[in-house]
Amino acid sequence: MSKPDRKPLWDALVEAMRNVNTDGCVVWPFATDRDGYGRIRVGRYTNLAHRQMWTELFGEPDLCVLHRCDNRPCVNPRHLFLGTNQENTADRVAKKRSVHGTSHPQCKITPEIVAQIREEYVFGSRTYGTFALARKYNLHQTTVWDIVNRVIWKDALHDSALSAEVSI
Ligand SMILES: [Zn+2]
Repeated sequence: MSKPDRKPLWDALVEAMRNVNTDGCVVWPFATDRDGYGRIRVGRYTNLAHRQMWTELFGEPDLCVLHRCDNRPCVNPRHLFLGTNQENTADRVAKKRSVHGTSHPQCKITPEIVAQIREEYVFGSRTYGTFALARKYNLHQTTVWDIVNRVIWKDALHDSALSAEVSI
C-alpha cells in the first residue's frame, strides 16, 4: 500500500504562509507529538512542523523556533520567532507549563546531529557513551540516550505510528 503524497499540500501551505495576511493562528492540520507540536516527516526523520515552516521560509534556524502565540501547533510565521533553549524554558516556566520529561523536542537537534550521534555512540564508552556525546553536542544525557535507542527521531522504517504525518 503506497502512502498518499502530501507534498503538494505542504508546498501549498508554505506558499500560503509566505504570503500570510492573517494575524490569527494557523493550526497544523496533521499529526502532532505528545506535547502538541505539529510534526512533519522530512526524509527519514521527523521535524517540528513550525520549525520546518521556518526553515522553508527563512532558512535553517540556528536557534529554537518559538511561538509568540503559545499555540504549539501553530505554523503562522508571524507568530514565530527565534530564541534560545533557555528562553524557551523561561517562557514555559513563566507560563507555568510543565515539560514532559525527555519527550520534549530539543530544537538544537538536526537530522545530521542525530546521524552523527548514532554513528559515534559506543555503549558504555567513556569517550563515546551517552554522557560524553551529551557534552559534545550540548544535550541532556537522557536525550542522547533517547536518540541512540530511537525513542525520539525514530527511523521512519520502524515507526508506523507516524503514518499520519506529512512527508516532504
Ligand atoms: Zn499562532
